Parts: sequence; C-alpha cells; structure tokens
Amino acid sequence: MAIMATLVRRRLPIRTLIWNRRPSFSLRRIFSSPAAAAGEQERGIEKILVANRGEIACRIMRTAQRLGIRTVAVYSDADSSSLHVKSADEAVRIGPPPARASYLNASAIIEAALRTGAQAVHPGYGFLSESADFAQLCETEGLIFIGPPASAIRDMGDKSASKRIMGAAGVPLVPGYHGDNQDANLLKLEAEKIGYPILIKPTHGGGGKGMRIVQGPDEFIEAFLGAQREAAASFGINTILLEKYITQPRHVEVQVFGDKHGNVIHLNERDCSVQRRHQKIIEEAPAPNVTHEFRSHLGKAAVSAAKAVGYYSAGTVEFIMDTISGEFYFMEMNTRLQVEHPVTELIVGQDLVEWQIHVANGGHLPLNQEQVPLNGHSFEARIYAENVPKGFLPATGTLHHYRPVPVSSTVRVETGVEEGDTVSMHYDPMIAKLVVWGENRYAALGKLKNCLHNFQVAGLPTNIAFLNTLSDHWAFEKGLVETHYIEHFKSDLFPDELPKEMYVVAMHSATVVAACICEVEKITSRETIPSDNPLLSLWYSHTPFRMHHNAKRLIELEWDKELIGSFEEILKLVITYQPDGSYLVETEGGDSPGLEVKVMHVGNRDYRVDVNGLQTDVALAIYLKERNKHFEVWHGKHHHHFRQSAKLHQSSDNELEHKTDFQTSHPKGSVLAPMAGLVVKVLLQNGAFVEEGQPILVLEAMKMEHVVKSPRAGYLNDLQVSAGQQVFDTTVLFNIKDKQG
Ligand code: ADP
Ligand code: ADP
Ligand code: MG
Repeated sequence: MAIMATLVRRRLPIRTLIWNRRPSFSLRRIFSSPAAAAGEQERGIEKILVANRGEIACRIMRTAQRLGIRTVAVYSDADSSSLHVKSADEAVRIGPPPARASYLNASAIIEAALRTGAQAVHPGYGFLSESADFAQLCETEGLIFIGPPASAIRDMGDKSASKRIMGAAGVPLVPGYHGDNQDANLLKLEAEKIGYPILIKPTHGGGGKGMRIVQGPDEFIEAFLGAQREAAASFGINTILLEKYITQPRHVEVQVFGDKHGNVIHLNERDCSVQRRHQKIIEEAPAPNVTHEFRSHLGKAAVSAAKAVGYYSAGTVEFIMDTISGEFYFMEMNTRLQVEHPVTELIVGQDLVEWQIHVANGGHLPLNQEQVPLNGHSFEARIYAENVPKGFLPATGTLHHYRPVPVSSTVRVETGVEEGDTVSMHYDPMIAKLVVWGENRYAALGKLKNCLHNFQVAGLPTNIAFLNTLSDHWAFEKGLVETHYIEHFKSDLFPDELPKEMYVVAMHSATVVAACICEVEKITSRETIPSDNPLLSLWYSHTPFRMHHNAKRLIELEWDKELIGSFEEILKLVITYQPDGSYLVETEGGDSPGLEVKVMHVGNRDYRVDVNGLQTDVALAIYLKERNKHFEVWHGKHHHHFRQSAKLHQSSDNELEHKTDFQTSHPKGSVLAPMAGLVVKVLLQNGAFVEEGQPILVLEAMKMEHVVKSPRAGYLNDLQVSAGQQVFDTTVLFNIKDKQG
C-alpha cells in the first residue's frame, strides 16, 4: 500500500457525512428514494468502483447510474470488452484472467479505486465480497466498503465461529462439531457422536463447494481428505466442520438489512431448495407452503443473528428447514448481496443496491419492520452454460445466438454477456438470471415457464431445457420443494428414453429447418440477380427462378438430441421445390405423406413458417463451428439443434449415399475430458489395472473438482496429462485397454 500511496495522489479524507434528522426539502418526499423516505440528504458517494464482473457488476452499475453516481469497472484480460466494462464510465485493467491474479487481487483493485478517484467500492457477490481483509483494507485506504463491517464478515465468514456466536445468541443450530481441532481421528469420533449420515463442510466455504455427505464411518477418512483438499484449493483454508445431515430439508433464507445506527429489519424469506451440486438453480420469494407464524419466527431469528454481529448493509441468513419435524436451524450467514436478491426486490418493491449505497452513506433504513410489504410472488431461474446430462458439469463456448426475453415491469433479465461473447472456464458459468413477478405463485410460475420457453441461447449447452422441465413438473407446481428435489424426481426429470412425441417434434423442427435452409439459399442467390428481376413477395412468390436445377434435394441433419453437442441421430429429408415457392418435405424412405412448407423470411433470424396450413413464428440461428454448419431452431415451445457436418454436407446434396464416419474418431476405449479445466491430481500411472468406476484423475474447473473415473475395468494406457495441465473437452485423457502394454 505504501507504494500505491506514493503512486497515486491521495484524495482528501472522505467528507464527513452528516446524518441530520432535520426535515428535508419537501420535493424529495415525492420521489420515494430511501434518502427521501428516511428524511435524509443523500450525499457522499459520487463514484463507485465495482469490484466484480458479469451480471452483478452490470446490475450494481445500473442502480448507481440511475442515482447519478459515476461507475468504475475493473477487468481481467479475459474481460476487456465484456458488458460490465462497456457499462461503466471508466474501466481499469487489474490483471490476467485467473481470478487470483485479477478479481481477487485486492491491492490492484484498491489501486484502481484510488487512481480513478472512486470513493466507494461495491464488491458484488463472490470474489472479495466476503473478505474481511478486503473490507478492512478499503476502509484503511479511505474508501467506503459498500457492505457490512469487516468484523461481521469475519465473524460470519467462519462457519464454525459463526455457529458458536449464533448458539450464544439463541439461534437454533443443527447438531454438529464446530471445533478448531482438525485431527482426522478426533473428527471421526465426533461424527459418530453426532450420528450418520453427516455432512462435512469447509468452514470458509461457499457456492456449495467442498461439501461431502458421509453415510458411515468407513467413508469418513477419504471424504474428510477430499473435502480438505477442495477447501484448500477453493478457499485457501482447509478447516472443516461436521453437521448432522438433514435428510429431507428445505433451504429457506431471510434477507436482512441493517444500518449504521443499529437498526436491523428483515425483508421476508426466499426458498432456494431447488439445487444441484448444493447450488441453487431456481429461487422464489416468499417460500411456498409456510405459515405466517413460521415466517415471523424465521424473520425474528434472522434479525437476532444479524444483531449478534453488529450487522449493517444487506445480508442473508440461511436456514435449513427439516420438512419432517418442521424445525429450522441456522446454517450460515452470507454477508453480502445474494445472487437471488432480485426475487426479494420484486416482492417488496425496493432496490437493495440503492439501500446498500444509502446505508453506506450513513443513511437510516428507509422502512421499519411494519412497513415492509410482501406483495405477490417472484421466481428466479439461473441460466447456466452447463452440460445437464453429464451431471451438470460447467460448459464453455461461444454465445453464437443470444436473445433473452424482453424485460418489463414484471420480467427482469440480469446478464453480463452479449451475443458473441464466450463463457470461459475462468469464471462462474452463469449466463443470466431470469426473474419474474406475478400476483400470486401460480401467475408468477406461468410467467416463468413462458419466459423460459422464449429465452434463446445457442452455441453452447445450457440448462434452459432442464429449467423448462423442472418448472413444468407437478411437484414444483405445488411448491413441494426440498433440496433433494432433483435427485428425488430423477426419473421424471431425466427419463431414460425420450418420449416418442419428441421424435415427431424433432422431425417437424427438422422439416422447418430444411425448408428455411432452402429459402435462405434462394434469397441469397436471388439477391445476386440483376435488379430488373424485382423480388416479389417471398411468401406467395411465383417466380420461376429456382436455385437448384433439380427439383429434388436431400438434406441430412444430424440431431443433437440432448442439446449437449452430441449428434447421434441423422434425420434425412427429401425436399421438392414446388412451382409456388413452397417446399414439399418428406422423410427419406418414409411412407408418411410429406409436409407442405411455406417460408417467409421476416428478418434477421426470424421466419414465419406455414406447415400444412398452420402458421407459426420460428427463430433460426445458423453458425459455423469447427467448419460444421449448425442450426438451432425455436419453434413453439421447442428448441432443437441440428448440424450439417462439413464432410456430410459436401456430399449430401443430391447424393443419397449415407456417411456416418464424420466425427473425428478417437481410438476405441479413449476417455475424453468431460469438461475444459485444469488437471489437479493424477492418481494412477500407465499400466495400472483399474476397476470400473475407479478414480483416475481429478479435474478442476470454475473452482469445482471433478473426479474422472474409469468407464470399465482394464489397463490404464496413454495417460498423457499431468497435474497443472490445462485440458479441453476434446482432450483425450487416457485409454483403457483389455491387455497390458
Ligand atoms: P448465493 O448464496 O448468493 O445464492 P451461491 O451460494 O450459489 O450464491 O454462490 C455463492 C458464490 O459462489 C457466488 O459468488 C457465486 O458466484 C460463486 N459460485 C457459485 N457457483 C460457483 C461455481 N460453480 N464455481 C465458482 N464459483 C461459484
Ligand atoms: P455454502 O456456503 O456452500 O452455500 P451452506 O452451508 O449454505 O454452504 O450449504 C449449502 C447447501 O447444502 C444448502 O443449501 C443445503 O442444500 C445443503 N446443506 C447444508 N447443510 C446441510 C445439512 N446439515 N443437512 C443437509 N443439507 C445441508
Ligand atoms: Mg449457503
């Protein structure tokens, strides 16, 4: 810091903030800003540095800009042209892509704030948001940290210590071990005292990482070591705690808010039970199927928790609710703005970032507990780049097509990406948050489903189809949520076989795509004809022009059934160009009657398509990837992905020969990396005999560990990767052979 102080001219000490209680200018009351509502002058912060990236950085800047506050972004080399950088008034480079070197680089961030004259730092969530040292450093450097006091972060950042404080404050706790002694054998004894199953958690964890469920004593030591390793890698501290594993819990959390005058209120609860890998996917407010009494108890416990650590700014007290006993227990407090804060904003009609800025300025809470409304219902769905069938592994790739739903007073889309951006392996793979509001749960859910069907992302695997299935599921509709929801309803959510109708629907989409392909080619070639050949209406065009001399054409489309970039089926369509400009599309060799398709290109990627007299809107994204042509189509409630592989494509026109060897082939038995990431550990050597399912190496991506196991029994071969090596999802990791050598 000393160097920095000489490099950067120190600003004047932050002006003393005046919190007078004198009545403010009457016009202020007309605008219900927190300052006006609390009868205070808004003063102080005029420029905020947002120490984060992605959607949350954009979201914070939006409020700052609305309040007339200037914004400064920071960025790593991977983000120099990201949306959050473009959204800010100024932006400062803070380092290379890895988070450790950039978004976690506290001194680079402080230096950026001082250099740009920002008076305050908003940390967002993740990264440095829960670093007490960072909060402290900001204050030492004369910067306002827009968040809680460093002491509260410290108290709550350690899950063990926070449990001790909560216990003393009378907040109910899950039975467990929260001690400092980390001896494996001692912990094993403690686990036995608590009673299996138990949950091992990193004391300084977050994002659901590093947790292990242990069913019995035999598994304890291995799970303990794995949790320690993952905790060290992700959080830099390897201490863990033990908790009784609640078998049928709900995750219910309370939004709390405090000011610097000792006032703390809560803004109702959220249910975040729908999770995978202990990470939330769909959140809602208020929690469904809870009584008014329960809500009030929970709110009071949350306020006591916050008061016990002298909290101010936005925070979330997470509880685990045992659905069998109806009891709830303190789990942890997140001392920051939460990813899912928008669902609370929508039911209370307030902007929590505005409150944070107001409180950071020394303002009083704009509402007292009795004034906090609970209006309607809200859902948030987190849209991730991920490979759902492969166990929700994070995915990477380019957003070749990105069309979120239109926003309105009841629909919010929080995003930090634009079309053409890539989701890299450096950061969280969240693409966007879709947040909707309705007068009641039923109305809000209807809106959620509708928006999910219309949310278009192409170019990389996403969880949108899964979110659709989830929000359509009967138990979710009834609000019967619990944290094992996905596991519990696995067979409904991941049917072994695609229903027969899916094939029919896919064939229908393929038909539409094939007709659109023909139409686009027709338009493209027509546009090159001299202008004395006026374009007639494309729809009822009777122009004799035809691009293809032969009236029949075969289009073969490989179908990515699961939307994960795996093309296992080929759909073959025979198209006949008809004199009226329409297409007759038949399945090759099929005996069903063909479909009459008319296509009107209405602009960019939009088409109006008439199939046997039924007109609908269709969006079609076409892009090239590894020289193959990809087609992603949205058609009614359906989204399908097809490919014309370069090899197949060259020979497909008018050639009825069938090719299947279009994919790059790897030797039999090869195991590809399931995701792009870093090899953190190689457990075995070439030549070793392995059982089916035996762990071979450990990959890490987005700070998540993934153990790569042997697909079958045999001898390990061609293991060419080593710890520290970067791999891609096309990298061959190893081979399993039947014979040694
Ligand atoms: P919240 O508690 O705010 O709902 P989560 O618990 O899901 O959010 O995540 C907490 C933090 O961990 C967030 O800052 C998020 O960015 C980060 N995080 C979540 N998932 C991942 C992941 N797969 N890899 C890295 N960081 C993650
Ligand atoms: P993180 O900091 O990673 O968010 P939490 O302590 O909040 O860690 O736990 C994350 C999730 O793990 C919870 O939302 C819940 O689904 C599950 N969980 C946590 N504690 C327990 C428990 N004692 N029993 C069962 N599930 C738990
Ligand atoms: Mg948590």
